[in-house]
Amino acid sequence: MIRIDKPEKAPDVLTKKGKTKRRGLCAAYSRYADAYKSGAKEFKFDPKIYAHASVKSALISAQNGKCCFCESKIIHIAYGDVEHFRPKAGYRQKASDDLGRPGYYWLAYEWKNLFFSCQLCNQRFKRNLFPIADSDLRARSHKGDLDREEPLFIDPAADDPEEFISFREEIPYSINDNPKGKATIEMLGLDRNELNEIRRDSYEMLKALYRVAHISPPLPGISDDAKALLDKAIQASSQFASMARAAVRKQFSPL
Ligand SMILES: [Zn+2]
Repeated sequence: MIRIDKPEKAPDVLTKKGKTKRRGLCAAYSRYADAYKSGAKEFKFDPKIYAHASVKSALISAQNGKCCFCESKIIHIAYGDVEHFRPKAGYRQKASDDLGRPGYYWLAYEWKNLFFSCQLCNQRFKRNLFPIADSDLRARSHKGDLDREEPLFIDPAADDPEEFISFREEIPYSINDNPKGKATIEMLGLDRNELNEIRRDSYEMLKALYRVAHISPPLPGISDDAKALLDKAIQASSQFASMARAAVRKQFSPL
């Protein structure tokens, strides 16, 4: 996971149609709060707004076509999801909890709350999960105060994920066992076998390049090419850049 710099300005569809929808959702909640809390009434959200082509393409561009969580490049094989960081329809503090209602309905069309993610991270792992340090401080409606929440998931647009998660070779770990890194890795499956396996291939390739880049005396042309490829691997646009950065920083030591 790496830091994501989204453009300040939200796509028009969110600030226009999305804003109107938000007003409607907040008014409906104010009127029928109990029904929304019990689940007797459910909000309907319009993917034509939050997942509008202009929103999706702005996210894909800011994220270089990578999943906001696992950093897999996805657009060559899948459509990918526009995912809500704070879940819109309901929340769970942990996977075994009943669904808490309502979700963060008022953030359904909020630019800051939207990311581009792979379907596995979103649909198999994250779903309605949104753990916070003290669940009593959760904002339960549009009148709640989000600043009081301390999310246990790393927000790649607000936090620097590399302060929380590093890698031993291809395996992610939480730096100094910090709770945010730990929850993010465990609950979003960032150490799932399939990811570890594909990162392993990439790690071994980079390790070989690192050796060639640092061979003494340098191999004319070849060592420079290896350096250039390593430089590319740590750019935000590269798949698994955070792993590559950790590996280069640690000079490919396994610790
Ligand atoms: Zn993913």
